[in-house]
Amino acid sequence: MNLLQLKSLFIDELTDTYPKEEILSFYYLLIEGLLHLQKKEVFLEPTIKLSTQHLSEFKNSIALLKQEKPIQHLLGSTEFCGFTFKVNENVLIPRPETEELVHWICSDRISDISNQKDSGSSQTSILDIGTGSGCIAISLAKKCPNSEVSALDVSKNALITAKENAIANDVAIHFIEQDILNFPIKFNTTVFKKYDIIVSNPPYVREMEKQEMQNNVLQNEPHLALFVDNDNPLLFYNKIAEFAKENLTENGLIYFEINQYLASETATLLEQKGFNRIEIREDIYGNKRMLKA
Ligand code: GLN
Repeated sequence: MNLLQLKSLFIDELTDTYPKEEILSFYYLLIEGLLHLQKKEVFLEPTIKLSTQHLSEFKNSIALLKQEKPIQHLLGSTEFCGFTFKVNENVLIPRPETEELVHWICSDRISDISNQKDSGSSQTSILDIGTGSGCIAISLAKKCPNSEVSALDVSKNALITAKENAIANDVAIHFIEQDILNFPIKFNTTVFKKYDIIVSNPPYVREMEKQEMQNNVLQNEPHLALFVDNDNPLLFYNKIAEFAKENLTENGLIYFEINQYLASETATLLEQKGFNRIEIREDIYGNKRMLKA
């Protein structure tokens, strides 16, 4: 079988499960992942023949895609903020809207540094709460000039993946295994310093919103990272806000990814906790997805 025939096989087999553009994007990602060929090389030589070994790997991938396994799990990695992150069933697959949160923090940092010329030389300490794959913490460490980044998660397995991602991306992150819901609010100051920035993309999808979610998310991503009770959906924001009040520096900032349906409730909660200059931003899909205070 050649590449052209393989493409038809992808379309025939997956057309009942996915829209055509998505099938083609799977096809090109797997060609790149398994054969190390770029899209343009496929265009130039569509009649390249597949070995029996490769054909069986592609057929296996098609079968997994039919069962709605995420393409990122088939590839074992994904791109986030221009960096490559290993992903598996222990971590949430990094989302494009979370990239927007990272961009917001980086652009704020860069304008702060250029506004106060001498502060560029001092370090910014950042804590990411619920780091998962480490995508936020590692991207900030790569992109923010002079930052010192710590990252916390309750899941030992998530931290194993996050550490591998830090090494693969060549950054030093201080990882902490800790349940933020069961945590002394005051950090031991001999171990931890105060943070200039606390960032978090905590679980925020209410159980009642499950039906809006795709099967591939529900079946393959850690529910621990996604869901909260219907009756206490801001549990993590509440705890992190209390923690941040104690552990942020004087003009420290908190950045959250938020539930689009609970944006004003989240802002009110932060106001009640004494935060000010609260700003909400929409993501590329037009959903109220990020908050700074
Ligand atoms: N935005 C993610 C989703 O739609 C949820 C992330 C989270 O709960 N923190 O699946």
